[in-house]
Amino acid sequence: MLMKADPSSQLTRPESDEGVPLSVKIRERLEAARKRFHSNDNIADFLQPGELDALQEEVAQKMQGVLDSMVIDTSNDHNTGDTARRVAKMYLNEVFRGRYVPPPTITEFPNAEHLNELMIVGPITVRSACSHHLCPVIGKLWIGVLPNEHTNVIGLSKYARLAEWIMGRPQIQEEAVVQLADLIMEKTQPDGLAIVMEARHYCMAWRGVKDLDSKMINSVMRGAFLKNSDLRREFLALIPRKD
Ligand SMILES: [Zn+2]
Repeated sequence: MLMKADPSSQLTRPESDEGVPLSVKIRERLEAARKRFHSNDNIADFLQPGELDALQEEVAQKMQGVLDSMVIDTSNDHNTGDTARRVAKMYLNEVFRGRYVPPPTITEFPNAEHLNELMIVGPITVRSACSHHLCPVIGKLWIGVLPNEHTNVIGLSKYARLAEWIMGRPQIQEEAVVQLADLIMEKTQPDGLAIVMEARHYCMAWRGVKDLDSKMINSVMRGAFLKNSDLRREFLALIPRKD
């Protein structure tokens, strides 16, 4: 069906307007709310129930166009016949799911034991992709928490779930650790928080300089870890980073 190119109707486009891609409708909602939608932002609040499936269908169609433009005979090549659909599913429902679903629900407990000693969680496996090439970024991270008596306590496995949600987007390592630190600070409000992430960027191994061994390591320190160098040293000494 053809859409009339009447500029005045664009302003009052009804929600049911057929022919408008769902991605465009979602983008309009984000723009109306003045929300940022960079690759590592979560946009779950702007999707209605069922729309993730419809969006996956839209991506599959566009991915088919990419394969067509790469001159791959997906009609006769039994290996690639379903590739567009598989890649769309992988992006929206697997590797970049952290963009499209709300944060994992985390049960917080009051700190009944008044724990105030350094606690370290890790290594947590990181699986992400760089937002420059959409190439995998695979690594580990360690989280150091210095609670106080008012800090909410969350189960150890919950740190991994929060990390998975943040990393499940096309990311930039430096921004990913900051996003994760902000999220954990908001959820648990500790006296101090430290995160170290070490990852291999496959855009440097598969393409580019084709360096198979280089890793990127970065850290973010908050609160007590910024002020207290002994605490920082203790954390860094306790994380068993090597291979
Ligand atoms: Zn890259």
